[in-house]
Amino acid sequence: MKITGLKLYPIAIADPPLRSSYGLHAPYAIRTIVEIDTDEGIRGIAETYGGEGPMGLLEASREQIIGMDVFQRTGLWLDYERQAAAESSGDRSQTWFVPGENPMDRHTRTFAAIEIACLDAIGKALNKPACDLLGGRARSEVAFSAYLFYKHAGGGGIDGDAREDEYGEGLSPEAMVRQAKQMIATYGFDEIKLKGGVLDPDVEIETIRELRREFGPRIPLRIDPNCAWSVDTSVMVGESLVEELSNGGYLEDPAPGMEGMAEVRKRLLAQGIDTPLASNVAVTHFRHIPEAFRLDAVQIVLSDPHYWGGLRAQQALDHFCGVLGMGVSMHSNNHLGVSLMAMTHAAAACPHLTFACDTHYPWQTQRDEVVVGGRIAFHNGRVRIPDKPGLGVDLDYDQLARLGERYAKLPYRKRDDEAEMRKHVDPDWRRVLPRW
Ligand SMILES: [Mg+2]
Repeated sequence: MKITGLKLYPIAIADPPLRSSYGLHAPYAIRTIVEIDTDEGIRGIAETYGGEGPMGLLEASREQIIGMDVFQRTGLWLDYERQAAAESSGDRSQTWFVPGENPMDRHTRTFAAIEIACLDAIGKALNKPACDLLGGRARSEVAFSAYLFYKHAGGGGIDGDAREDEYGEGLSPEAMVRQAKQMIATYGFDEIKLKGGVLDPDVEIETIRELRREFGPRIPLRIDPNCAWSVDTSVMVGESLVEELSNGGYLEDPAPGMEGMAEVRKRLLAQGIDTPLASNVAVTHFRHIPEAFRLDAVQIVLSDPHYWGGLRAQQALDHFCGVLGMGVSMHSNNHLGVSLMAMTHAAAACPHLTFACDTHYPWQTQRDEVVVGGRIAFHNGRVRIPDKPGLGVDLDYDQLARLGERYAKLPYRKRDDEAEMRKHVDPDWRRVLPRW
């Protein structure tokens, strides 16, 4: 089954003013919907990062993709591997890049978009769900976590296109407990992740403690400050939250750099504190894993089919981590239903992925969904593998057109949370790591 066409749909989706150590989310997040046509009349779809960078990389491969057999993808993978090896220069740690902009994983990101679209088309041709093309599923429904963000008032979008502020301002421990209760009541999640690195660490510690008081030890808790803390502060937080981050919780990317993570781990272990460190910053590529393992810098790898290289690479990562005795969880960025289904199929095919996956899905609304039938349903915080072929979703072309028009009107073509922060919160703000 040969690819005869490649369509890229750049889109903009309303996004609330969420905070992280990167800065502030813009009123619209940008994404790209990828669609391949085949000579058998079957289409395949995928969703990936937005803006000129990711689109340019896909365009640069257009000639190679057209004519490619959807079953024969190894040549494209090897070609990208050769290019990556030729370009390799020094440390391309994710620390300083917003997701989707790291040169190190540019090729695995590009490959992932094509591979996922190919698997969607193959699934449709064989009438099989995508995860069943990977050797079968370890689970038929995938758990996601309540992904809490400190946020300013506002629901995203601008002017007449502004969204209702569903969750309200969230800049205190009490407000975050409200946010968690509301999100859990709506989706049924039974694990919680807090995006930190925004307020003073003492306030973030108090937020986690309030969440534990409210929900008890049945709901695992994690905190991810995206490297905003020094080693000393990371150790202090690890000591303060020994109890709260136990029972399936973890401390995610507290300090910058592999060495920083290793030092945090060493100092916590020296005190008998075994809270695992998770990462989607120190570790974002297969080539990071040997060092992370050798230094014991990371105990849980946050996978993500969008940048590790697609569903099969995700499965290889899961296997790799299983052999090394490392845990596996899943990272997320703003996304719509196509990505949610790719993440769900990926997680379903990974036996070692035992934590609830991250998802930004609760932060988007029906008005921004591009799949036919509207938003994907969660049942008790879980997404089920649908009894449909491929990813199990189809594109709503009217919605795609609306979101494409909105993208065309946007003044930016790249995510820049630092610039948004200066525009709306503090004109002198810069991203300083570690900040505390
Ligand atoms: Mg993270």
